[in-house]
Amino acid sequence: MSTTMLGRTILALLYLFIGSVMAAAPAPTSTDVKSMEENLCYSKWAMVSIAGIIALTFAWKLVYHLQAKLRLLLCLGNERQQYWAAPKSDIFPTVKREILWAPMFAKRHNREFKLSRAMNVGTLPTRFQGLFLLAFLAVNIAFCTLSIDWSAKRSVVLKQVRNRTGIMSTINMVPLFVLAGRNNPLIGFLRISFDTYNLIHRWLGRIVVLEALAHGIAFSINKVENGGGLAALGTTLKTSYSLQMGFIALLAFIVILLHSPSIFRHAFYETFLTVHIILVALMLGTLWFHLNLSGEAWVPYLKATIALWAADRAIRLIRIFYRNVSTKMARATVEALAGDAVRVTVTMPRPWKFQPGQHAYLYMPTVGLWTSHPFTVAWSECREVIKFDNKELSLHRQDIFTKEKPTMSFIIRRRTGFTDTLYKKAVSSPDKLFSTIAFAEGPYGTCHSLDSYGTAVLIAGGVGITHQVPYIQRLVEGYRDGTVATRSVTLVWIIQSPEHLEWIRPWMTSILALEKRRDVLKIMLFVTKPKSTKEIRSPSSTVQMFPGKPNIGTLLDMEIENKAGTMAVAVCGSGSLSDDVRAAVRLRSHKANIDFFEEAFSW
Ligand SMILES: Cc1cc2nc3c(=O)[nH]c(=O)nc-3n(C[C@H](O)[C@H](O)[C@H](O)COP(=O)(O)OP(=O)(O)OC[C@H]3O[C@@H](n4cnc5c(N)ncnc54)[C@H](O)[C@@H]3O)c2cc1C
Repeated sequence: MSTTMLGRTILALLYLFIGSVMAAAPAPTSTDVKSMEENLCYSKWAMVSIAGIIALTFAWKLVYHLQAKLRLLLCLGNERQQYWAAPKSDIFPTVKREILWAPMFAKRHNREFKLSRAMNVGTLPTRFQGLFLLAFLAVNIAFCTLSIDWSAKRSVVLKQVRNRTGIMSTINMVPLFVLAGRNNPLIGFLRISFDTYNLIHRWLGRIVVLEALAHGIAFSINKVENGGGLAALGTTLKTSYSLQMGFIALLAFIVILLHSPSIFRHAFYETFLTVHIILVALMLGTLWFHLNLSGEAWVPYLKATIALWAADRAIRLIRIFYRNVSTKMARATVEALAGDAVRVTVTMPRPWKFQPGQHAYLYMPTVGLWTSHPFTVAWSECREVIKFDNKELSLHRQDIFTKEKPTMSFIIRRRTGFTDTLYKKAVSSPDKLFSTIAFAEGPYGTCHSLDSYGTAVLIAGGVGITHQVPYIQRLVEGYRDGTVATRSVTLVWIIQSPEHLEWIRPWMTSILALEKRRDVLKIMLFVTKPKSTKEIRSPSSTVQMFPGKPNIGTLLDMEIENKAGTMAVAVCGSGSLSDDVRAAVRLRSHKANIDFFEEAFSW
């Protein structure tokens, strides 16, 4: 039998099977029809609510963006930028302090709850994130319960609850999958970072599983109570293919819920990811049969979910091939540095442009097989590759230099998995340096433009400096060229040892050599564990070194005292540093026109 014939026969059998299942189903009653209409109506409202949230967020971001553009234009030739220096009313500073930047309770947001060094129990959402998640939960509870006639017969109520929870679980999968994707279009559209979406993804996932569980429980109770007891439930499960598929999907959902808590995710990230993907594929496949065999009207939502997932994976593959594969493949040079870190420089075969704050996923098959890890692009430049031919001596520059090769550099701090292997391989290589095939996937992440801020205070802890270096370069170059409103950039970098300065030395040398740099850039280095006081040396009045940790509040007060225009405070470092900076900025939200940006290297 040819494969086409075989395919047709299987399809015909499948249709016969679906037909028989549907024919076996009892004819719908008028209550069923009414409830179906209501379900359709609620499903539409659920989609409208999601679209409404996106539209509102977009409007808010658009106003914010336009205001920043206007400020930039008006401040270009203005030194003090007095008009923009202080908040115009108490409302916005209060909203920022009490809702937008506020931690859930007193101070803690990014600092993880830890049972031990390796056991990370997770972080608390911010107050705004918490309110959003609560509202989302409330809307879901409403959609699962509204207009159900709770006074009706128990079997009717259970059936309606079963339908509504099943529908909401299926519909919610569309945003659930969009938010998990690296290529989530909402990241660029709404300028909200991946880790915020990832947080919503995790909570939405919990809601989806609870709804699926409620769906299964409502069905089972109904079957046991009204269909002939536990034995009848067992028989239905044995005979109904659709139910078997639904049951497996539910089991997959439950295992996904159980294996996803922060403690497992952080301790065994790669295992978590692989198991997660396998379970999600199993859940989607079995749900597909469950919905199709029951002739459900919600299949399009599932199709959309699968299409979105497939599209994200396909775009990732295309990106990897486009960026890295050409006549020459991308290659990485890995150099071990003091302070448990490596500098990775990837030479790309094709042009690559990235914005400050963006990251790329690095694949190094010789070190981490197929796994990919996110790292912030700390520096990027174009190198001219020398092609010198002895036989044909040329006087023309273009004959000696071939095309420019873009390079991207990362500083990677050693942890316990891929980064540990990478570091050990570099340390044991001759000259503590090796070269290997690499693939970079990106650029990902949003760039928060700081161009319209008169004063920028950039705070970094340890390897968090990779996030701040591109901003410093952009702002100092912008100041030199007169394209930004920035009149003062202060970098506060907290490191354990002066050895860590080596991580960014070549790039800082370039930045420090920029014209007019002294007029705009001030660097304050805080060394928390110096071996001796002799190590603490300040090379100049604009590059100063101090022992110990900074007092963030005092630093901000000094900056506010001398600020020009609106002030941006950006932090990237450990969770506790972020929380300290957040607390200090909140306390000063009424003293200056401040905006707060934070970047965490985890999700
Ligand atoms: C947007 C972003 C930018 C980052 N930029 C940098 C940077 O510039 N320099 C730097 O040193 N580190 C950076 N990190 C952190 C870096 O990705 C992790 O330290 C690295 O992936 C750990 O790999 P590992 O196998 O050694 O981890 P492990 O020691 O196994 O785990 C350490 C931690 O890293 C997390 N992690 C492990 N693998 C991944 C992964 N594939 N994706 C996400 N998290 C993972 C784990 O959950 C755990 O919390 C960044 C992280 C993010 C999310």
